[in-house]
Amino acid sequence: MSLKVQNTATRSLQEFEPLKAGAVSVYACGPTIYNHAHIGNFRTFLFFDLVHRYLEWSGYDVRFVMNLTDVDDKVIEAAAAAGVSVTEHTDPFGEIFLADTATLGIRAVDSYPRATAYIEPMVAFIVRLIEGGHAYAADDGAVYFSIESFPGYGKLKGIDTSTLRVGARVAHDEYEKEDARDFALWKAATEEDERVGAAWDSPWGRGRPGWHLECSVMSTAELGETIDMHLGGEDLVFPHHENEIAQSEAATGVPFVRYWMHVKHLFVEGKKMSKSLGNFITVRELLDEGYDPASIRHQLISSHYRGELNFTREGLKASSSAVQRILNFEARMEAVETDEGAAPSPLLELAEAALAGFRAAMDNDFNSADALASVFVLVSGVNGALEGRPALRAIDRDAVLTVLHSMDQVLGLLEVAHVARAVDDDLAGYVEQKIQERADARANKDFATSDAIRNELAAKGIVLEDGAGGTRWKVMG
Ligand SMILES: [Zn+2]
Repeated sequence: MSLKVQNTATRSLQEFEPLKAGAVSVYACGPTIYNHAHIGNFRTFLFFDLVHRYLEWSGYDVRFVMNLTDVDDKVIEAAAAAGVSVTEHTDPFGEIFLADTATLGIRAVDSYPRATAYIEPMVAFIVRLIEGGHAYAADDGAVYFSIESFPGYGKLKGIDTSTLRVGARVAHDEYEKEDARDFALWKAATEEDERVGAAWDSPWGRGRPGWHLECSVMSTAELGETIDMHLGGEDLVFPHHENEIAQSEAATGVPFVRYWMHVKHLFVEGKKMSKSLGNFITVRELLDEGYDPASIRHQLISSHYRGELNFTREGLKASSSAVQRILNFEARMEAVETDEGAAPSPLLELAEAALAGFRAAMDNDFNSADALASVFVLVSGVNGALEGRPALRAIDRDAVLTVLHSMDQVLGLLEVAHVARAVDDDLAGYVEQKIQERADARANKDFATSDAIRNELAAKGIVLEDGAGGTRWKVMG
């Protein structure tokens, strides 16, 4: 019984052995905060969360770092279009991103480094690469990585480097496998870069880092030269992660990452979705449509991260029922009568079997689909065993609840559902109080106050309806 992970680098399922027994370092490529993250991004971020939670659940001392990209080609373009600096543009999106992750129950990680805070270490890293003969300053004011100088180039994606043109260069952050060539570590500042505050001094003049360099430098600075796990969406395998390996291993001479793991693209309503196609939906849109965070979380973890997942609103309704079933089960178990004289039941065995199934599923390359199935094996097994049993021994009831809550420490569904419900209760309490204040104002013919209260609620999207039975309220979608 031990954790196995599918390593992109070796294309095989491998037993997981961290560099230091009992401790795990993880670096995950987070969002570029130039826009709202979409639901496809959140499939990836929820997988990061499952890894984070399950490693901790398994007893590892985990250090988990996720970067927020706040300067790259896309950020600069978006900031320039908005007429603000890159920091003014990215700060609010960073806030929104962290709020969305909290809504979906994604645990905070240890550090969220931003590229703009690492300019000096990036410059030092480039100097080291130039000194080692792995990079060169070109006549366009940029510094390029020489892929010819790194024989392992192409090993992650499986690129035949014999076909590459020596010395050919690419300055863009993103490009296709067919365009593999020397890539920019540092780019000379353009007028636009200067205008949006994305230019810094360097030995090669004013400029800014290339996107790929950012992760190599922040990973090394925060976690050391060799890390255990590096996670990301499958679209990052090339060129981003291939380039990270080249930069890091050329600079340090030691392996950069022990296990690479990549999450498959999400389909939405049957279609591939991406920011560049412009057909993305956000967490906020789904919440505004009335879907709850636990259902969104459930659907996004309901499939193994390397398997196909088609996110649909129909599917969200099914997820909502699944979450409700777990909530009902928890409530039923908490309400069940206990009696020390009750007959022995098979609940202890059912609980142990469910936990073993859950652990085996998660150990098998974080298979959350099978792990969720173990929860429902417990629910149906126990529900069946409860038929005709008016009371349970406390030890049996507690075993079931303990296992249910233990599994939820990883899956996070009850956790998110309870938080969302508490928020709803708070809202209801607030609105009821305002309705009472408004009724008092009206009774005193203080219509200015009563109108002000109605407007205050309307500004929060809450509409009042006065009727014969009193005032009712609803939240506008
Ligand atoms: Zn990255």
